[in-house]
Amino acid sequence: MAALDLRSLVVMSGILSLLLAVLILFLRVSYPRSIRGLGLWAAAHAWVFLSTALFAGRGFLPDFVTIVLANLALLIGMVSYHAGVEQFFGRRPAWARWAGLLVLLTLPLYWYAVVEPNYSARLILVCLVWAGIFLAMAWMIWRQGPEIFSTRFTVVVLLVHSMVLLLRFFSAWMPLAEEGLFTPSRVQAIYVASNALMLLALGMGLILMAGDRLREEFEHLASHDALTNVLTRRVFLTACEQELARCRRHGRSMALLLLDIDHFKTINDTHGHQTGDRVLVDFVQRIASLLRRPDLIARFGGEEFVLLLPETSQEEAIAVAERILAHVAESRDSLPTITVSIGVATNRPDEDQIDALLARADKALYQAKTEGRNRVEVA
Ligand code: GH3
Ligand code: MG
Ligand code: MG
Repeated sequence: MAALDLRSLVVMSGILSLLLAVLILFLRVSYPRSIRGLGLWAAAHAWVFLSTALFAGRGFLPDFVTIVLANLALLIGMVSYHAGVEQFFGRRPAWARWAGLLVLLTLPLYWYAVVEPNYSARLILVCLVWAGIFLAMAWMIWRQGPEIFSTRFTVVVLLVHSMVLLLRFFSAWMPLAEEGLFTPSRVQAIYVASNALMLLALGMGLILMAGDRLREEFEHLASHDALTNVLTRRVFLTACEQELARCRRHGRSMALLLLDIDHFKTINDTHGHQTGDRVLVDFVQRIASLLRRPDLIARFGGEEFVLLLPETSQEEAIAVAERILAHVAESRDSLPTITVSIGVATNRPDEDQIDALLARADKALYQAKTEGRNRVEVA
């Protein structure tokens, strides 16, 4: 193991961290602002780089710099990773608590570095805090993240790294010969090498997580209406086709409801387009509050929406439509009152095209409009 020069390893790992910092900073600039945490993850890697630069000066620079400051920089980096994960999941990092912890650690670090130098004591302290932060991060990602490769990979990296840190923590209690950061012992080589490797893997995991989040956001944008956040036509029709095929296989029924707000143009003309927009959002929320879990809602155009109600008979569909009619017509403080016309259609055993079902719902809607609006018709 003596062949492995630990100082060079630390320097190399620092350079890799710096590269990751630049890479993540670039992502932070180019990704949408809604993907949070990247700035802190870039900062974390930069802090790690700084700490390795300071550690590498051990023996040349004062111990206060290469021990106390270096370890503090390292721990600030670890705190930044954690805070970045908190931001990534929409939480606000507890900065005061972190600052308190770092201040608290300064004294024992200083003591065991300058007053009574003791590498084992410092190691025990740093490994414990570091592993604690990483285990908390792993727990947060495990609980909050989706079950996909990027989150699972990052959790595994954090757990393995915590294991290494805890093993080093316990080994530090064992009475070994003269020890220091760059003592070329087997244990120390494993410790330094795995730190370098794991921080690299952690950076990769975090980058993958941000990439997955970006993809999720794009998928959501592509499949949801920007104003009302309901499904778009294309996604809805695909789901309808699948449901219709299921119905045919199992002899079940499904219903389509086509909804069109009455005289919506007048709302815009009298109250302005912005109020019109708020009416649309409110309209969708009112409908959504009446739906079951498997029901789908989509925006078909301007003020026209469509509902898919799986496992629903014609009578049940009419009952739902009547409930929507009543709920939509209820007045609300700041918004003009509206009414809606609804066309209902349920599948027929011989009908295998969603277009035919839609055409009937459209016919029923047209009928509801011509017969005075604010009503439900079936076709
Ligand atoms: P009807 O009872 O026959 O359905 O009459 P209507 O006025 O509701 O129907 P029409 O199709 O004549 O007008 C629809 C209006 O919806 C016209 C358009 O400006 C408005 N609209 C479409 N999309 C939006 C939107 O996103 N926001 C707002 N505020 N208005 C919209
Ligand atoms: Mg209308
Ligand atoms: Mg319309």
